[in-house]
Order: sequence, then structure tokens, then C-alpha cells
Amino acid sequence: MDLFEKIYSGQRISAKEAMELKNASLYDMSGLASARLKMADASGEVGYIVNRMINYSNVCMAQCKFCAFHARAGRVNAYTMSDDEIFNLCREAVERGGTQIMLQGGLHPKFKLGWACALLRRIKEAFPKLWLHVFSPSEIVWFARGEGISVLECLSRLKESGADSVPGAADMLIGRIRSQLCNNKCTVAEWRQVMEALSKLGMYSSATMTFGLGETFAERIEHLDIVRQIQDQTGVFKAFIAWPVSPENTAIEGRFARVGAPEFLHTLALSRIYLDNVKYVQSGWLTEGLKMAEVALNFGANDVGGVLMNEMVVRAAGIDNRATAENMRRVIVNAGKIPRERDGLYKTIS
Ligand code: SF4
Repeated sequence: MDLFEKIYSGQRISAKEAMELKNASLYDMSGLASARLKMADASGEVGYIVNRMINYSNVCMAQCKFCAFHARAGRVNAYTMSDDEIFNLCREAVERGGTQIMLQGGLHPKFKLGWACALLRRIKEAFPKLWLHVFSPSEIVWFARGEGISVLECLSRLKESGADSVPGAADMLIGRIRSQLCNNKCTVAEWRQVMEALSKLGMYSSATMTFGLGETFAERIEHLDIVRQIQDQTGVFKAFIAWPVSPENTAIEGRFARVGAPEFLHTLALSRIYLDNVKYVQSGWLTEGLKMAEVALNFGANDVGGVLMNEMVVRAAGIDNRATAENMRRVIVNAGKIPRERDGLYKTIS
């Protein structure tokens, strides 16, 4: 049986076999990914969520080289939101029909676990139905280190305070890349610990991959393989999201060429084909724009993510894509799919 037949028949492919897809045409990748999508989700529906991203501070001790958001990137002024400002953004999001808050910032020297728990409790008490998708694995490891406690204990306290799920924020799960570009963030082993702890606590995450960081094709597959292994062991991932890095205004600007549209679509399709155990794959409109999101829905994606009111991290790189729920529905219909508004657990709201 050749590789394409194996994929079309729904069998798992190995990392070695995935390497053979490196030179597959976009036409073939679209067909293969669409077939795999039908096996994962035959509904023809595409989800979106009305949510708000609150980037509470850009003061960050990690200083990742691919990040334009943190204040020491030198192009933006430092800011830190007060708890009242964050709370008011939550209230306004609820008033505008938002069902989920994403809370992410830098590794702030003054923000500790106690601050995070008190803030979550305040938000959850006021808005019990608001889904709190909060704090990246790096922030969680930062909080745990600050308290001298395990990742599991840290997450357990965040859960008790109201956290519902955690964004994946994996960047590239390749030690070579991390040591060069984001040496102060959580390690691959710590990222894995966060996912395992979430699973033990009955919580969920989304796996991500930020690519275009000088990694090889084989390293992209290695990243996908880590995600697939963890998902086999835990089932912790509700979705997978891949997007190219935006090098503009960062320390890697000019070092790596920006990933183009064909490579984005190829990588998205590869992710759908390889990750046979993840139901939802997102189309990454925030960095690639809404038009590309339409095309991506024919390369294995079945979710367009959130409207992300107020997102600031990608905007710091000079990319200012914005969307409303109506835009999301239009994208989905244009791609010939059926829109559905979903919640933080990917269940249909309407
Ligand atoms: S990517 Fe996140 S952890 Fe890294 S410097 Fe930017 S804000 Fe800090």
C-alpha cells in the first residue's frame, strides 16, 4: 500500500512516512487533509467562539527573540493593567456576548500565583458562566517556580480559583530552537508536565505550533509527534493550532524569511494528517488573515478560533487583523461550510 492510500484509508502514519509528504503538492495535501478531516468530523461544520484576549502586561523576563510584544523588544512601552482594568474588560466582553476570556501576559516579576488566583476568583464569582482559558504553560511554570511548588499543585490552585482551561502556547517543542530563541521560557519537559497535570485535574488545553523559526521539516514532524504522543496518553488537547511566526519588529527580523501562504497551507494539512487523534484543527486567521482562513478550511481545518477582541501580541508585530462574529460566519460560509458558535469545550452554542 502506498502512503496516499494509507492516509486515505485512515491509518496512522509514522514520522518517517510523514517526511515523504515534504514535496507533496498543495493539491494532494488538500485532498489528503480533507479526507482525514471527514474521518475526524463528518459534520461539515466549522466552529468559532466569541472571546476576548486580555494581554495583561508586556513586562516579561523571558525576552524571547521572536516576540515583538514584550517591552524590552525596545519598540513598545511597558504597561501593566490593574486588576480593575482586567475585570472591566471581562464585564464588557460579557455585555458584548463574549463567552470566553483568554488571559495571557509576560513572565512579570511582580505577578505571583496569589495574584492570579485572587483575580480569577473575582472574575469567576462575578461571571460564573464565563469560560476562563488562562495562562500559558510558561506563565504557569513561572508561578510554580515562584512558589516553590509543583506544576500540578500550581494548576490545582488555579483550577480551584476558577481556571477552566489553558492555552497551549507551545512555540516549537524542539530543544535546539528553544535554547537559541526562548531559553527563559518553560522547557519541552516542563510543557509536557503542564499537559500531564491538566489531564490529571480533568482540564483541557489546545496544542499549538509556531513555525518559521529556522526549524527543519523533520523538526516540525518531531513537534507534531510530541503532541500526538501526549494526546494518546492523556486526551488533553481539544484542538491544534499552527501559525507562522511574525518576525517583524523582533530580534529575528531579517534572520528568517516569513513563511508564505503555500507553506502555511502545506503545514496545516500535514498537521491534520499527522494528528489523527485531535478532532479540531484551527485555521490561524490572526496572523494569516481572514481570506487565508477561508482557504485553510479546505486544508483540514474545522475551526476558526475566536474573534479575540483586543489581542495585542500579534499586533505588536505590526499585523492588525480583526474580526467580528459576523466576519467569522462569513468566512465559514464562503468556504462552503456550516458555521456554529461554540463554547470553550467546543460544544455548539448556536
Ligand atoms: S513570547 Fe511570551 S514569554 Fe516570550 S517574551 Fe513574549 S511575552 Fe514573554
